[in-house]
Amino acid sequence: MLGRAKFVILLCLFFFIQSSCQNQSLNPRLRSPKAVVFSPVKSKLIPRSMRQLAREVNIKPQIMSSRSLARRKAKRIKPTFLTIHSTANRKPTASAMQHSRALKNGAFRDRSWHFTVDRYMSVQHLPLNESAWHAGTRAGNMNSIGIEMCENESRGHNHFHTWNRSAKLTALLMKRFNIPLRRVVPHYHWYGKSCPGPLLDGGRPGRKWAWFHARVDYYYRCINNGVPNR
Ligand SMILES: [Zn+2]
Repeated sequence: MLGRAKFVILLCLFFFIQSSCQNQSLNPRLRSPKAVVFSPVKSKLIPRSMRQLAREVNIKPQIMSSRSLARRKAKRIKPTFLTIHSTANRKPTASAMQHSRALKNGAFRDRSWHFTVDRYMSVQHLPLNESAWHAGTRAGNMNSIGIEMCENESRGHNHFHTWNRSAKLTALLMKRFNIPLRRVVPHYHWYGKSCPGPLLDGGRPGRKWAWFHARVDYYYRCINNGVPNR
């Protein structure tokens, strides 16, 4: 009888500890947002290794100096979200490499992010276990890798190549850090900023964001034997 009472007490204790742990994960933004409904890309999967996909993404490391203001303020992180931005800079010269130069020469002061993508390459600015100042909230900065997509393809503003390369990079990072698709979020997620502008509908995630999610999902399945992580 006593043994049974002990068992019940232990069980209650277990549920109490578990629920208080869950309460600590507290900030509603840190919960996965509701996924925007999307139709998976039906195209035949073209299986490839992570290394092959990384070649397609064309990552150019241009790590900022550890003495830069942004990096001196950085903390160690273990990313559990991927935050997608768009530069909102349509100048033809506002390429990924140009953003890298601006970050390196301090033009963005303490603002920073991990990658800038254009139609030709993905420039990496920071180590992936370091926080950056891009999300507008502490929760976003301390839990996510920031990816900026360029808007400098001035002719007809055809951004498809940049978005597609960004989707590949995102899939690669999902795999590397075991981050599910529902934690691939627009900057909008952290505090309602209308970013990435070209992938939102009326300033919110909708049809275009669902399209982007579908492409990320497709490339993820290409490197994960067809198995999604949604
Ligand atoms: Zn943004």
